[in-house]
Amino acid sequence: MRRWTESLERWTESEVWRPVAGADDAVMVDSMPQLIETKQALSDPEDDMPRNVYTADHETFRETAREFVERSLKPRAQQFIDARSIDREVWIEAGKQGLLGLEVPEAYGGSEARDFRFNAVFAEELSKFNAAASSCFGIHTDCVAPYLVDLGTEEQKQRWLPGFCTGEIITAIAMTEASGGSDLAALKSTAVRDGEDWILNGSKTFITNGYQADLVVVAARTSPDKGAKGITLFGVEAGMPGFERGRKFDKVGQDESDTAELFFTDVRIPGANVIGEVDRGFIAMMERLPQERVGAAVSNTAHAQQILNETIVYVKERKAFGQPIGSFQHNKFLIAELQTKLEVTQAYVDDCIEAHNEHMLTAIDAAKAKWWSAQVQNEVLDACVQLYGGYGFMNEYRVARAWRDARVTKIWAGSNEIMKELIGRDLGL
Ligand SMILES: Cc1cc2nc3c(=O)[nH]c(=O)nc-3n(C[C@H](O)[C@H](O)[C@H](O)COP(=O)(O)OP(=O)(O)OC[C@H]3O[C@@H](n4cnc5c(N)ncnc54)[C@H](O)[C@@H]3O)c2cc1C
Repeated sequence: MRRWTESLERWTESEVWRPVAGADDAVMVDSMPQLIETKQALSDPEDDMPRNVYTADHETFRETAREFVERSLKPRAQQFIDARSIDREVWIEAGKQGLLGLEVPEAYGGSEARDFRFNAVFAEELSKFNAAASSCFGIHTDCVAPYLVDLGTEEQKQRWLPGFCTGEIITAIAMTEASGGSDLAALKSTAVRDGEDWILNGSKTFITNGYQADLVVVAARTSPDKGAKGITLFGVEAGMPGFERGRKFDKVGQDESDTAELFFTDVRIPGANVIGEVDRGFIAMMERLPQERVGAAVSNTAHAQQILNETIVYVKERKAFGQPIGSFQHNKFLIAELQTKLEVTQAYVDDCIEAHNEHMLTAIDAAKAKWWSAQVQNEVLDACVQLYGGYGFMNEYRVARAWRDARVTKIWAGSNEIMKELIGRDLGL
């Protein structure tokens, strides 16, 4: 619903009324072509569909998130790419802005928002900058936080959460192993009890924030014969003897994020570092994956919408055969379809955000939001690359990087096939 339609009173082929941006009075425009131009000039895809999910408080918080992106991330964009990670000083800056401890109780230095919409706003603003930033901070704020806050002991909370909020403790979560990520229950890393301690052996791969994380939530098998019911979560801290990192992966996209292998050789983990109950780690992960997936859906949608917005500007300026390429019917219809898909996706994702906030989001709905938004995002970005022509294939163009960055969203956090498997099973198939 575009803003300008609200006060568009009447239009005929020869006489058209339209509002002037920022003014209450309507102004007469005299022909259809001008109406079309007017629509183009006034349209701002961000305003296309009023979203009801956020309140004024969330929008105020959005300003803080935007400021952080403008001041702390944008000037260092190339630095992150070169370093294949977001530097620690940027995490500290995020902490100072109160962006990291959204779910953490005030007693441990957080803002205790108890409202996932703040996480969603942060994810949207990061995604508009780039997908990797959203992933790195999202792993910390959306994925790891609930394990520490919901399952942590009082001593663990006091030990870890203040640093988590300031950015001095960067976190990661390590489920996936080289032998397979989709079949999480089949993981092979083991932890064997030794007195009060546990001895951890094994390895993890593709771990976001893995290279610089100070605290990694690691899933390991503690009861070999009990399948999914024999997995426990451990807080593995940097510097523990036997805990080593492999190289930062050279990825197809999301160059800015640190994604690494982790190796555990006879790492002695104190009993005090068990997160949650012994042998109940799989259930703990299943209970928390919907938040990770709805967070992924928020990022997918915001990222795709941002790049489509930029592409719409481009196709209005770029000319071929003497006219803007966006005015060719094929391209116009294509963009109309993509914009529609994104708005419909956004509506579903917003419903999921609200449902999650009310503790009503099912794992199945989160799976739907995750796979669908990843699919739509990839479709949108592929079309955007095409619309940029050869420039769309050049890394110096944002659209090219965004296209590369988006590909993994169909693979991680539970691949699209696994999401459909969950949905299919729920349908009794
Ligand atoms: C950049 C990046 C960051 C990541 N960050 C993290 C992280 O922070 N922490 C973490 O733990 N993991 C992380 N992962 C791992 C990610 O979650 C896994 O890659 C993903 O779950 C898939 O596991 P896999 O790679 O082992 O593929 P596999 O499980 O080997 O699957 C390979 C293919 O088979 C398909 N497949 C598998 N089972 C079925 C089935 N039953 N039906 C149909 N198709 C099936 C899959 O969909 C996929 O297409 C990350 C991955 C990447 C690439």
